[in-house]
Amino acid sequence: MWIFQDLRRAWEYITSQTGIDPGSATAKWERAANCYPSWPVCSSYFNGGVGGPYVYIAHDNAISSDTVIHETGHHYMWNATGWWLWWDVWCYNHNLFSQEDVNCGWSEGWADFIPLAVNSTLNPNDSCFDFGSGPCGGGFFENLELRNRDDLPPVFPWGDSVEGRVAGALYDLFDGVNEGFDSATFGFTPIANNVFQAPNEDCLEAFWEGWKISEENEHHAVRAIYQNTIDYDTPPRYEPSLPDRIVLQGLGCENAIDLWTYSTDDESSDSELDWQIVYTSDWRCGATIDGGDMVDIHPQSGWLGSCDVTIQANDSLKTTNDTFRVNVLPVQAWVFLPIVMNSNP
Ligand SMILES: [Zn+2]
Repeated sequence: MWIFQDLRRAWEYITSQTGIDPGSATAKWERAANCYPSWPVCSSYFNGGVGGPYVYIAHDNAISSDTVIHETGHHYMWNATGWWLWWDVWCYNHNLFSQEDVNCGWSEGWADFIPLAVNSTLNPNDSCFDFGSGPCGGGFFENLELRNRDDLPPVFPWGDSVEGRVAGALYDLFDGVNEGFDSATFGFTPIANNVFQAPNEDCLEAFWEGWKISEENEHHAVRAIYQNTIDYDTPPRYEPSLPDRIVLQGLGCENAIDLWTYSTDDESSDSELDWQIVYTSDWRCGATIDGGDMVDIHPQSGWLGSCDVTIQANDSLKTTNDTFRVNVLPVQAWVFLPIVMNSNP
């Protein structure tokens, strides 16, 4: 009955959150049995091959709802995609923070994440994968929210071939509790839509490609993934490069450069970028960035000359610098100057 309730809760959660029917799931369990006859290893597992599909729950794991739903997560992924990692024998001995390959990291990371989402209906903000009864205790457990860029290999290896990192990234996309670089609060639906609908992912990077095609925000998503030591962020770029500017002596120039026009980033929109002046070869140029992300140039009164100004664009994870030149020239003849003045500055 415990196992049946876990299966049922998983199906109801996915269906109610997404409107997607993940299909049927079969579980096998026998009192006091931890090994399935004819199966080579003694543990809980999912079998999508001969005799399957079904999940086998070893008796010692029956108390762990997270383990039952972990195996069910493999089953549902197989239902949706036909994908089951049976050939990856190195993956059989995986654990949450073992270094595997990206396929194993994805398959197991998804299966580690989905019980945390499903069981959030029982225990909101329970970020632990519990091998016992839980939440966050009653046996061995791993709190995915505690893992971040400060915990280091070899105890906690980095990257998308580590299932605990993949699960942590999915959990940070999902949950409403933000820490470190995590500013994402997407809930379950966009994650599940990506997994359960074509194309089928076989690694977290493929999931990320699907996310980018969707209409979901990428700036916060790439930060949540980055928080879990997986770096899919590309730095901002200047396209085209910042233009040189001529300013006349004694006359300032408001809004000389619109930084949004010259900056781009694959994950972040212009409003999600920041800029700062990191170098000016001569402070008398008077270049500043205003609250509207415009460069204003107001040279010191009476000063003539030129300077180089370096502006750093920042997507909150990475930065890029570009330099432009300001030339302050003397006024030759007032009468013929083609200046358009704003009458309401
Ligand atoms: Zn698994």
